[in-house]
Amino acid sequence: MSSKRVVIVGGGFAGLSAAFTLMKRGFTPLLLEAGERAGGRGKGEQVDGFSLDMGAFVFTSTYDTAFRLCEELGLPLVPSQMKFGHYRGGRWVTTTPDQSLWNVVRQLPAARTMGFLSPSGMRAGFKVMRQMYREEPYLSFASDSPLAEIDDGETYGEYLERFRVPESVRMTLGGPLKMILGDPEPAGQALMRAYIGETMLSGGRVFMPERGIGSFNRALAEACSDATRVSTPVRRIVVADGAATGVVVDGETIEADAVICAVPGTKVAGLIPELPDETLAALGTVSYSTGCRVVLGLDHPALPPGWHGALYPEDDDTPLLLDRSAFLPACAPAGKGLLDLLIGRDRAKELIPLDDDAIKRELLGAARRKAPPGSALPGDGEELFYRVYRWEEALCMGTPGMLAAMANIPGQLAGRIDNLFLAGDYMGIPSVNGALSSGEKAATEAADLLASRAD
Ligand SMILES: Cc1cc2nc3c(=O)[nH]c(=O)nc-3n(C[C@H](O)[C@H](O)[C@H](O)COP(=O)(O)OP(=O)(O)OC[C@H]3O[C@@H](n4cnc5c(N)ncnc54)[C@H](O)[C@@H]3O)c2cc1C
Repeated sequence: MSSKRVVIVGGGFAGLSAAFTLMKRGFTPLLLEAGERAGGRGKGEQVDGFSLDMGAFVFTSTYDTAFRLCEELGLPLVPSQMKFGHYRGGRWVTTTPDQSLWNVVRQLPAARTMGFLSPSGMRAGFKVMRQMYREEPYLSFASDSPLAEIDDGETYGEYLERFRVPESVRMTLGGPLKMILGDPEPAGQALMRAYIGETMLSGGRVFMPERGIGSFNRALAEACSDATRVSTPVRRIVVADGAATGVVVDGETIEADAVICAVPGTKVAGLIPELPDETLAALGTVSYSTGCRVVLGLDHPALPPGWHGALYPEDDDTPLLLDRSAFLPACAPAGKGLLDLLIGRDRAKELIPLDDDAIKRELLGAARRKAPPGSALPGDGEELFYRVYRWEEALCMGTPGMLAAMANIPGQLAGRIDNLFLAGDYMGIPSVNGALSSGEKAATEAADLLASRAD
């Protein structure tokens, strides 16, 4: 056991994985979380036998740290596949990302609707896909992803322009991102292409904890509960003479031998104004989307058999529909349904100030107006229960070059404030896996530093 104290600020996936790593290394960290419970944007909730995800809801095939931690925590991973209907030009096309020749032939009508069969669509689609395959090792969310290396100053919009992607294909490649994230075109091409690559190149197959990401988040929080103090917002990280010496919470200053700051990137500068100027400038490139989500428990499945979800890429008001009872059956009691309605875009900003009931009525009404054929969306009040989750800061988007700027931060801190470490989704490839990996990395570096000082 080490007597050195590492204080971790923020108990989302990044802070929790940092605490878990330090405990495995024989440290007794102290994790301070502002909220009433740890978990951050990965939290879940149990309601009447249903398992709800409040924020993050899907892994991709390269979530190596997440897979390993699920295994260490004894959570079985189950395969699932994302099969979505797309509402385009007033009608439905269903797609499965299976890349077999037969599937490609079978999906020719869908390819036409998606814009890939026009001469300009074919040309652009071929070039974009060829480059995707060539850069497959870069377009990954894994802990050792080299994505930052191709994160130049180019926006996703400029990238589409460079490949002369026609409007209908632009909608196919950008519309689903826009539904969840907000406008992808001003964001960096590398991150947006990684989002697309992760689903296209993996054939849409994912491995997930059978009761969703919230169950994993809870298991990790429970494993760290002895080290966690909740309802304890940190007001300031104290830096003196080139070292982090402690943190200020209401009523006391807690001393530390090292500090890991694991709050969202937009909050770091407020906690540590003494950061080097270039680090503060780099942090200025971090931004988040806004998200609003309604989850409804139903006494029947909501979507037609074989559908996991429905996408409305051309539409500004209709949320993404996800039937979690089809996607992850263990999340709902047998025969029941768990419908997720999720919207990003500017629409989320308009909805967030409304009360829960109004948000539910708006999103359910929009979904009902364009329900997939054969679906059974509930009327008002016909659900068993509902929950509304508002996220002012949802998914990390950033500006072009953000990933590259973040990769420089550890070097900027080393030698200046070398017992201070930043962790969070924005410090990895922004995602659950990026948050977990960044927490592990920060904890490993803190433990190595303190061990070297003890020698
Ligand atoms: C609606 C939604 C859908 C998403 N979908 C996906 C998905 O499908 N897949 C995916 O990979 N990712 C998804 N994400 C993103 C993913 O949830 C995040 O990238 C990840 O959970 C971020 O973890 P984090 O630890 O970096 O930050 P957070 O989870 O934000 O944790 C930061 C913690 O710090 C605490 N904190 C803040 N300030 C202080 C302070 N001063 N003192 C003490 N504590 C403080 C906060 O309360 C919070 O608990 C989604 C997010 C949302 C909101």
